[in-house]
Amino acid sequence: MSAVDRGRYTCVVQGREAAGQEITAMRARELGRKSVVVGDMVSLVGDASGDQGTLARIVRVAPRRSVLRRSADDTDPVERVIVANAEQLGIVTALADPPPRPRLIDRFLVAAYDAGLAPLLLLTKADLASPDDILAAYNPLGVRYLVTGRPLAEASLDELRALLAGRISVLVGHSGVGKSTLVNALIPEAGRAVGTVSAVTGRGRHTSSSVVALRLPGGGWIIDTPGLRSFGLGHISADRVVQAFPDLAEGVAACPPGCTHLEADCALDAWVGEHDQGGALAARLDSLRRLLRSREGRDDT
Ligand code: ZN
Repeated sequence: MSAVDRGRYTCVVQGREAAGQEITAMRARELGRKSVVVGDMVSLVGDASGDQGTLARIVRVAPRRSVLRRSADDTDPVERVIVANAEQLGIVTALADPPPRPRLIDRFLVAAYDAGLAPLLLLTKADLASPDDILAAYNPLGVRYLVTGRPLAEASLDELRALLAGRISVLVGHSGVGKSTLVNALIPEAGRAVGTVSAVTGRGRHTSSSVVALRLPGGGWIIDTPGLRSFGLGHISADRVVQAFPDLAEGVAACPPGCTHLEADCALDAWVGEHDQGGALAARLDSLRRLLRSREGRDDT
């Protein structure tokens, strides 16, 4: 299923993706309350010809291999599934205008690890600012990345195509980071509206507003998401947030039972002090604590 609009689901038949034929479907009653989201593999009955004016019915949703979720905010445990069956999370971040938001990158990373998606940092607008600081902060995580400038160089575009080829990738990023520009470069016919950032309010305007899966010309899919201003992790337990930092696990094992990792008796400071080389683990611990504080509503920004 590649898009949904007011109860009408756009579906593409497996094996016929290249033909570009789309089938419009509605939910069948037997689905009950089960959600259908972009990326779901569904079974259709009824008129699946795709002819204009026809409407098929979705009768079954296949088990999901991955689920990307968010909650409205960090203190809200109600989760919403955004995308099913993705393999990679492309985190689009501008190096300037608007400036990078490391806390948002961190939470996207936790969401990616929690969902079992491979993260990919896509750093845009390198013509305005150097990527060095961001790369220094995230290289210790071993996250793959691509730095692009404007205009988008053909070599960068080729590298991006290679990173996305044959895979199902979700692109996330807040308004104005250049996500639509990347999508339009990859799939010129997609015609995603390019967002602009208003200097007065800082809010994006004219941004594309719905989650939609777009087939890459060389195979694979990108799933574009609306300009997300927040990405709550309230549905992810503190333990699972900690598990998204496996490089700190040995230190966590020395913590007292029930350690929140935010108080003075946390063993991680001593462990990091003993094992850190070049500050990488200290940066990771700082990142973990920023996320844990945010989940507790203790984030000061
Ligand atoms: Zn601890």
